[in-house]
Amino acid sequence: MAETTAELEALLMQRSLTDPQLLAATETAADYRILPDATVIKVGGQSMIDRGRTAIYPLVEEIVAVRKQHKLLIGTGAGTRARHLYSIAAGLNLPAGVLSQLGASVANQNAIMLGQLLAKHGISAVDGAGLSAVPLYLAEVNAVVFSGMPPYGLWMRPAADGVIPPYRTDAGCFLVAEQFGTKAMIYVKDENGLYTANPKTDRNATFIPKISVDEMKAKGLHDSILEFPVLDLLKQARHIREVQVINGLVPGNLTRALNGEHVGTIITAS
Ligand code: ADP
Ligand code: MG
Repeated sequence: MAETTAELEALLMQRSLTDPQLLAATETAADYRILPDATVIKVGGQSMIDRGRTAIYPLVEEIVAVRKQHKLLIGTGAGTRARHLYSIAAGLNLPAGVLSQLGASVANQNAIMLGQLLAKHGISAVDGAGLSAVPLYLAEVNAVVFSGMPPYGLWMRPAADGVIPPYRTDAGCFLVAEQFGTKAMIYVKDENGLYTANPKTDRNATFIPKISVDEMKAKGLHDSILEFPVLDLLKQARHIREVQVINGLVPGNLTRALNGEHVGTIITAS
């Protein structure tokens, strides 16, 4: 090990940071999962939180019960208010980085609301999911709420076309799960999972229980139930090799998914 460290150090001093031999040397240490017992769940903005109490009260009850068995990092989506902001800001020709800040403010609002609903159960909303006190919250009360938007803000990498920030809350929550090396990543939305077409607009859409990233792309479904950059993040991930998208409007689904059951669509890296 000491030798590898010395070799890595020599390479780091001499080579470009994207040198192939240097990159290979950075991979020699065993993978380390920071929070292997936790699961990230993303509570959809448009699909769940915008529905208000009919969707959120039962989900809150389920979260409170299920955190006795599972450690939960609960990320929030943004939703319709963000779309409204994006339409105004894009109309004003403001850039992706500004839209990213605007979207983050809405995901924040949703984290604040969810945090207030969970407060009496001792579950807090934090300002950022980056380490700080998150492990302590998980150790003490098994759950914490965070805003799902990744904090790129003005530094958001713009898409090739348009000004909508490509990395939004599906991506933000995925990256938290992947960086922390959590046990699982579950997307809580308002459909049973992925269909062959949007079930809200196509009555002939059929349900797909399991699919890989490549199959999703081949079927032209890369921009459907998850933000499209998530598929590439998943394909390259070290820890999170599959995600599950479940219907959070069906009571019990979240609990079952956390218990490892297949209740929605499982999207696999390979
Ligand atoms: P979130 O609330 O997490 O942002 P979205 O609203 O972005 O969730 O994504 C979920 C929605 O994606 C569903 O409500 C559904 O209408 C839509 N959707 C589009 N294409 C598909 C598809 N092929 N299968 C399932 N849902 C789809
Ligand atoms: Mg969305």
